[in-house]
Formats: sequence, C-alpha cells, structure tokens
Amino acid sequence: MIATLSRKLIFGYRFETGRGDGGGIEGAATMSLRDHTSKRACYTSGMDSPLFRDRGIRRFAAGTLIVAFVLVVVLCAACTGATGTGTTSRPASTLSTVSITSASTTTSWFAGAPSSETSSTAATVATATSTTLAPTTDSSTTTLEPAPQPPLAFSTTRAMEHIKKLASDIGIRPGGSAAEDEAVSYVSDYLTGLGYDPVITEVPLSNGKISHDVVVTKKGTSPLTILVSGHLDSKPTTPGANDDASGAAAVLELARDFAGADQTPTLVFALFGTEEIIDANKTHHHFGSRAYVKNMTDAERDDLVGMISLDMIAYGNTFNLRTMGKGPRTLRDMLQAYAGAQGDNVAYLKDTGPTGWSDHEPFELAGYPALWIQWLTDPTYHKAGDTYQHIKTGPVQTTGSLMLGFLAGLTPQDLDQLHAAVRR
Ligand SMILES: [Zn+2]
Repeated sequence: MIATLSRKLIFGYRFETGRGDGGGIEGAATMSLRDHTSKRACYTSGMDSPLFRDRGIRRFAAGTLIVAFVLVVVLCAACTGATGTGTTSRPASTLSTVSITSASTTTSWFAGAPSSETSSTAATVATATSTTLAPTTDSSTTTLEPAPQPPLAFSTTRAMEHIKKLASDIGIRPGGSAAEDEAVSYVSDYLTGLGYDPVITEVPLSNGKISHDVVVTKKGTSPLTILVSGHLDSKPTTPGANDDASGAAAVLELARDFAGADQTPTLVFALFGTEEIIDANKTHHHFGSRAYVKNMTDAERDDLVGMISLDMIAYGNTFNLRTMGKGPRTLRDMLQAYAGAQGDNVAYLKDTGPTGWSDHEPFELAGYPALWIQWLTDPTYHKAGDTYQHIKTGPVQTTGSLMLGFLAGLTPQDLDQLHAAVRR
C-alpha cells in the first residue's frame, strides 16, 4: 500500500504541476482587486483638476481601472518569467484555484466532452489529489515537468446519461430479453466509439434463452489484470436504474477515461448479462460472470489478479465493500486503505447466505481477490420505483472518482502483491 500511496502522490503531482501553467490567472484577478483599492488614494490626489471633477466618478473609475490593468499585466509577466527561472514561491491559494483552470483545459482532450460539466468534475478530482500533496513554496519542484499524461476525470454527467438510456429509454431488461439485447447494442456501440473492439459472447441461460456479455480490454504496461464489471439486466419488474444501470454506466465511463491512458494494470471492462435470479431456483443467477470465469483462457486465468463488481452505486448514504469472505482479501484491503486516504468512509459488509449477491461471486470462488461495491440502502431495490428519477449523482461521483484514482494509481508492486494472493 505504501507503493500505492507513493504512486498516488505522483498522480497528485501531475495535477499540481499542471496548475502552475495558469499561475498568473489567479494572481491577476487577486491583484487587480487589491491594486484597485490600495492605489485609489494615490491617484485621487493627482486628479484634482477641473477635467476630472467635471467628468465625475465614471471618468475617475475608468482611469483607475486602466492603470490597474496595466500594472497587473506588467506584474503578471514578471511573475511568469520568475517562475520559469525557478525562483518564485507561490501561495497555496494560487495553486488550488489554478487547478480548476488547468484540469478543465486538459480534459478537453476527450472528444465530445461537455465542457461545463467536465471542468467541474475535473476540479473535483484535482482537489482530491491536492490533499495528498501540500502546496509548496519550493519553486524547484514546480520546474520539474513530468511526461505528458492523459487527463483522468470521471464524468458523472455522462454516466447519468447512460443510466437514463438504459433505465428510461430501454427500460426493464430481464436476462435474455430483447431489451437486454438492446442494452448490449448500446454499450458495445459506445465502447466501439471509444476505440475499443468489444467482444460479445453468448451466455446460455437455464431457461433456454440467450444472454450476452460485452467485454473490452485496455492493455497496461503490465499484463497483470484487474476486471471491473457492471451488469446489464434488471429484474422483470424494475427498470433497474440503480440496479444496475448505474454500475454499467460507471464501467462505460471508466473505459472512456482509460482509453488513452498509460496505466500500469491491464484493465478489462465487462458488462455482464443476466446477473439477477431468473426463476424459482435461487442459484440461477450470475450467468454472465460465471460464464466468463468458466471460459477464461489459460493466459487470462494467469494474468487476472483482481475483480471489482460495481452494482448499485447510485443511491444510499453508506459506501460498502462486500465479499463472500471466501476469497483473498488483499484487493479489499488495498481499496479500503486507498479510500480512507481519500477521506471516503468505506465500510465492509460480508455477503449473507451461501452465495455472493453480485458478479464477484464466481471470481471469489475461483480464488481471485474480488469484491463488490454497493451503496445502501435503496428502498426501491428490485421494485418498479428504481427509476432514473429516483437515483442520485453523489454516490456515482464518489464511486467513479474513487475507482479512477485507485486503478490509475496501482503500481507493479501492488499487482505483484495481488498476484501472490490469488489462490489457484
Ligand atoms: Zn445488481
């Protein structure tokens, strides 16, 4: 975990460094106000002429503003030049404000990103990372330029659009139904648009119907792999906005975030079919994830080191990591420590009963460090009221940002630790 946190500091630094580029903006805004006030008396004494008296306050104010503006331009230029030579220290307020400007600018790297929303989301991520690195007055660090990194910012707005599409437009999506197929088409089209090559696999169900898994892979610098999933189906009585259009939406946006990144772990983004129980037999669920685990190649089996199911992340006040308590707890411990360092209060819940209650089940039983992220408590669980109108953005934002930071910060050492924990 020390390695993880170290990596996090590096990521935090990337954001911090980016802020330096716009350092003059906050300085200018602050200075113009201050100068306008402090130098006012000075200019007033020199304006005691008939001209200024006749033209009144407006003329005086205009003159003062012009002078102040010129001063700010000169001072700003001097400030920028000094930073370049590594001799200027910066106040913390400058760093924190400029981070928003920098993050929103760099986030436009994503084609089609809605700029207003993206900038606020990016600001959230940047603020989170800034807490890991104290604002520095040592200008020597601000002169270090790390290699350009793709911006990483989870878009809750786009995630909400996916939820709306799945829950409101497509609606109720029982496993193996035409509606679930429509969801398969929607997510595979979206992933294709991001440059991925989705693998769509047929999943036979116990009732004779056919469901599908949609899976894409983003290679990392390491072949060791973390799989992140959501499920596309919903119970026959519910549009399943929270359960689990929310998890599927987050998977889509994480896939978008990492499409151009250079992260360490290889990431598999999976949209599983038919997670829900489909008949009277209470073990007739998790069809898509069970099929995936069953059909992994030897290489995939060797490289997989962790699995996270995002299932019900759009309603509730408590953020829970859940497992069956049967697999290695290494990933759970890592994620919980990471969340704690971010200031997120994450609880652990053990699944009740003999089976897990989300798609982590087959992975955990196969010996992988696996877990399920779920927010509680949703009173509309498996009911008609689980609609787009009912869900909340807060848990989606928290979960998405946490996942993004955690996955981006995983080091080779972390992956080795997870690899060693796999029970074969
Ligand atoms: Zn679910």
